[in-house]
Amino acid sequence: MTMQPKIHYTKPSITELEIRYATDAAANGWGELCYAYISRFESEFASYLGVPHAIATSSCTGALHMGLAALGIGPGDEVLLADTNWIATAAPITYLGATPVFADVLPDSWCLDPARAEQAITPRTKAIIATHIYGNLCDMDALLSIGASRGIPVIEDSAEAIGSIYRGSRAGSMGRFGAFSFHGTKTMTTGEGGMFVTSDPLLHEHVLTLSNHGRSRTQTKQFWPDMVGFKYKMSNVQAAIGCAQLERIEELTLRKREIFAKYRRALGSLPGVSMNPEPDGTRNGYWMPTVVFAPETGLTRDRLTALFKEQNIDARVFFSPLSALGLFAAQPENTVAGDLAGRAINLPSYHDMTDEDIERVATTIRGAMGL
Ligand SMILES: *Cc1c(COP(=O)(O)O)cnc(C)c1O
Repeated sequence: MTMQPKIHYTKPSITELEIRYATDAAANGWGELCYAYISRFESEFASYLGVPHAIATSSCTGALHMGLAALGIGPGDEVLLADTNWIATAAPITYLGATPVFADVLPDSWCLDPARAEQAITPRTKAIIATHIYGNLCDMDALLSIGASRGIPVIEDSAEAIGSIYRGSRAGSMGRFGAFSFHGTKTMTTGEGGMFVTSDPLLHEHVLTLSNHGRSRTQTKQFWPDMVGFKYKMSNVQAAIGCAQLERIEELTLRKREIFAKYRRALGSLPGVSMNPEPDGTRNGYWMPTVVFAPETGLTRDRLTALFKEQNIDARVFFSPLSALGLFAAQPENTVAGDLAGRAINLPSYHDMTDEDIERVATTIRGAMGL
């Protein structure tokens, strides 16, 4: 039997535009122009998102680390987040000596359950991180109102949510600050990279200083840091690629939506199958088309992973609860997060995949269901 060609789960879309900008940055982006693409990327990203301030970073992890540091989070503090998450959301909390507290997720959006988050608040809770998982939007009205009534800032981890819109506001623009990732697996990429965004001018100034090794814009003495900061900058060559990707952002996110729609047409009405939701008043950027199988289908992550491997299809497992990793305090009460991970899978969704690829993936799932 000959092996079918591999279907990758993600792969960036790089055109002549990205190559032209990166080449220009490599050839000319030095000396006086060494920040030209970075400044342009920051201002164009801010205007795309509808926020006044953006700071390009080397990763989303770095953006979260600096933002949490600027909020004064440190030892003894707790930060609330969903148990279904990538570890990059929790790691910066631990870098600061604070404790991540994981609350359960909603069964339909797989995002932080506002009621469970509210129950988990203690006098030590200093922030709530809302991760828009796989492009699905958190219930921002509920989370922002809990944050406002308790005086706790809400942060948006929007690494997976470029292109998602909640009641007219883009993901990442609603919280005290937002953080994005341009890792090679994300909808738009700079290879590695991230962005910190905020509407708060003081927080912006603070993170700007932190991101420049503690050197304030107003400090007149040279090489005179006013605080111990960080070095999480993006390079000009990466920013050049980012500028090109941002010019194509509608194309990139529309293609994610198109791929999701094709999967939904093929799979969405099968019994016991649910997929990423798109409630009224929202638009999902569908970073990762995901299928959750009801318990009565008998389909498990492990069975699906094995079947996809046989078909040479690179599907991804749904995130295990962070509290189950053995790295943090166990939280077995988070049963929704624990249960979802065992019967869900992310489907391939890279820009240039063909209809035949999508059909091959859908056929594999229908076959697994005995259909
Ligand atoms: C990818 C991702 C990150 C981390 O992004 P990096 O740029 O790799 O640091 C953070 N949070 C979530 C939810 C992610 O998916």
